[in-house]
Amino acid sequence: MSDDIYSHDDARAVYRVIKDLELFEGQYFILPEGLANDSNKQEDQSLLDKKNKFIVSDAGKINHNQDEISDFLEIDVFRESICGCLNCELGSTRRNFVFGSGRHDADIMFVGEAPGEEEDRTGKPFVGPAGELLNKIIQAMHFTRNDVYVCNILKCRPPNNRDPRNAEIENCEPYLVRQIDLIRPRVICALGRFAAQTLLRSNESMARLRLATHSYKGIPVVATYHPAALLRNPQWKRPTWEDIKKVRRLCDGVEL
Ligand code: URA
Repeated sequence: MSDDIYSHDDARAVYRVIKDLELFEGQYFILPEGLANDSNKQEDQSLLDKKNKFIVSDAGKINHNQDEISDFLEIDVFRESICGCLNCELGSTRRNFVFGSGRHDADIMFVGEAPGEEEDRTGKPFVGPAGELLNKIIQAMHFTRNDVYVCNILKCRPPNNRDPRNAEIENCEPYLVRQIDLIRPRVICALGRFAAQTLLRSNESMARLRLATHSYKGIPVVATYHPAALLRNPQWKRPTWEDIKKVRRLCDGVEL
């Protein structure tokens, strides 16, 4: 028998490989739907229990267990306190304030750019075509939308989906900072250039930002392409899937 002693790093490396194999080719995201393996549609009971523990819905209706109610109240009170915001001109053109949705204690927080037309109409983040693709990405990670938290840098839609302006980002950023403080995710995934540059205080391109794992107040940040950009550039799905696997590994604690 060999006397080899395996270190924690070796064990972590093996676990990373297993985790990546488990995620395989990104079913529901990269593989065409007909070819995707349906096994991850059947969620095991422990995952369902975890999910049902506490879900903050967009309408403020919740399932909760008693010991977590104070956290819910904090984020709910916070949403109520800012949803009438008129700090910039987007307040007068929006139909709905789009705060964010998902678990109040999610391990993974996705941060996008700004609500689009469908999000403005419904008050929910990522529900249009880009949202459908984000759902597939989340599903390919073996999660659902209710397992994660999703929000944007801007809480109101810029008219005609124009790019966010610096002043708008500056006005809105404190809301995101507070959301991150309340959710305390294990990992943040910045979707697109605006989210990445804002969180990381950087002017670098997405192509460069996605090459490293960054940190926001000690929380690892992975930058990747925005789902809307993937709809226009499907060749970016493969590198995005590599980034998303990194998010999953950071979430699982097998990548530092
Ligand atoms: N794009 C975003 O960045 N956020 C949304 O909520 C929808 C589209």
